[in-house]
Amino acid sequence: MNYIRNFCIIAHIDHGKSTLADRLLEFTNTISRKEKKNQLLDSMDIERERGITIKSHPIQMEYSYNEKKYILNLIDTPGHVDFSYEVSRSISACEGALLIIDATQSIQSQTISNLYLALSKDLTIIPIINKIDLPNSNIELVKNDIIELLGCNKDDIICTSAKKGIGIKNILDSIISRIPAPKGDIKLPLQAIIFDSIYNPFRGVQTYFRIKNGTLKTGQKIKFMSTNNVYNVEEIGIFKLKNLKKKILNAGNVGYLIAGIKNPSEVKVGDTLTEVKNPAKKPIGGFKEVKPMLFAGIYPIENEKYKELRIAIEKLHLNDSSLSFTPETSYALGTGFRCGFLGMLHMEIIKERLEREYNIDVITTLPNVHYNAYLKKSSKNPLLINNPYDLPDKNQLEKIEEPYIKAYIITIAQYIGGIMQLCIEKRGVIKNQSYITNNRVELIFELPLSEIIFDFYDKLKTISKGYASFDYTHLEYRKSDMVKIDILINGKIVDALSTLVHIKNSFSIGKKICNNLSKIIPKQQFEIPIQAAIGKKIISRETIRSLRKNVISKCYGGDVTRKRKLLEKQKKGKKKMRTIGFVDIPQSAFISILKLK
Ligand code: GDP
Ligand code: MG
Repeated sequence: MNYIRNFCIIAHIDHGKSTLADRLLEFTNTISRKEKKNQLLDSMDIERERGITIKSHPIQMEYSYNEKKYILNLIDTPGHVDFSYEVSRSISACEGALLIIDATQSIQSQTISNLYLALSKDLTIIPIINKIDLPNSNIELVKNDIIELLGCNKDDIICTSAKKGIGIKNILDSIISRIPAPKGDIKLPLQAIIFDSIYNPFRGVQTYFRIKNGTLKTGQKIKFMSTNNVYNVEEIGIFKLKNLKKKILNAGNVGYLIAGIKNPSEVKVGDTLTEVKNPAKKPIGGFKEVKPMLFAGIYPIENEKYKELRIAIEKLHLNDSSLSFTPETSYALGTGFRCGFLGMLHMEIIKERLEREYNIDVITTLPNVHYNAYLKKSSKNPLLINNPYDLPDKNQLEKIEEPYIKAYIITIAQYIGGIMQLCIEKRGVIKNQSYITNNRVELIFELPLSEIIFDFYDKLKTISKGYASFDYTHLEYRKSDMVKIDILINGKIVDALSTLVHIKNSFSIGKKICNNLSKIIPKQQFEIPIQAAIGKKIISRETIRSLRKNVISKCYGGDVTRKRKLLEKQKKGKKKMRTIGFVDIPQSAFISILKLK
């Protein structure tokens, strides 16, 4: 155990976590030149393109220090608020963390939130300033910020360029000299924390764990403490670039487990694994089930693709149990699914994967949060509303509750005013304001979750010219005066466009939706009224005038290829649309009606 180091890398997005991980792998010869690909740990295509890490991929390295061989387990953590629970679990599998800070950006909100998580688990922090090669880097300033934040010495801070490979040896040496070896007792009953799992179609679920105490062996009978489900250990091993089988793993180790687990939902991140024969008395740390926070309908653009969509979503769910889905029928969109996501990014990733990996064009409806609706006649247990259209009639309702969040915004002093204004506009209440460093302020607000899912982050960035970062944690449900707005196109309610809004904003939002739809929906051969209604009351109306010219008349009948091309172009455009009440509605209508100015 003395020769093991378990660590993670924490950083604000884009500060260079993946790039540094690659350099560490190269420097320790964990990957050969041939295998070298940029950002090796981000294996999903979308992760690579968007430069974000979604899933945690552990990997083991070997490194010699003072002529002794050490094993370093790097546990990569996801870098986005949507996945913060995974971050906290990965962190609890480590003794130390590399805290990376961009030399041009200094401390940002995820730097702080991840740091707090790491400190709450008593991790040793190694502060690292990255991107020192950039001409606009300000190393001295960032050093001072870090000293103010951590109370460390100047000499504790390592300066690197992950891109240029500067300072890598210093980091590896510090991992060994500063981060403690895992503590644990192999004689105690088995306790291992689950921090991730993946699905393998041939072998079932592979569970990733870190052993705190005891020993794990093949053939052993184990159970998960939150479910009491019992399994037989078929295979265990460690993470090299490929999995490497082992017969036995002791306390301190990080590894994978195959135990004939068929259904991924049986394995829960954060759960503790123990032995059946001699079980641990208590699980490690607390355990919390990750719940989806955002809901939207997903429908195939072509109705006949429903079965394919079902298979694709089931497959995605196998690798991502935080994605939930139930079949749903929409009058406007046909048959599809109501899906639950961790957040906006998670939703976008799922949509993109359906289109890219499974080749199914889908419509996603306007996302909404989950509401509690208390009925007058049975006011004890609320109805859980995850589709606004399902909200019961106003006069049956006692009250509605919506989820709130605590938002942590870090900015520089000059933008405080603008940010305050934005948060108040979004029904937020300021809870605290404090200086982290001499010009860097942290603002804490309580806000309804529904107000931040659309354009909040974009607006925040604009207001602060990029000098604001944002992170949040979930609070409880609170009573709110919500009303349902229905949208009628050509006189018909389009159920997929119904939305719940705060009564204070209902008229302005109704107006905005009608206005936006009138711009998004293309003109057609007839006039189209677009109306917003609360119950039977119409609160806003726009009209799309009818199309005057026929596109083909432009071609003077002579040029046949040109004519065909035009028709094909039209057909292609159509493919992305849905016909509702004789009106062609493009996908963008469902998602951007609230986004546009
Ligand atoms: P992550 O989001 O923390 O994983 O960040 P990435 O490793 O994906 O890096 C984000 C961007 O910063 C990428 O475009 C990298 O090429 C770039 N980058 C990372 N490290 C350095 C560095 O030391 N110097 C410079 N100039 N760019 C870097
Ligand atoms: Mg990354």
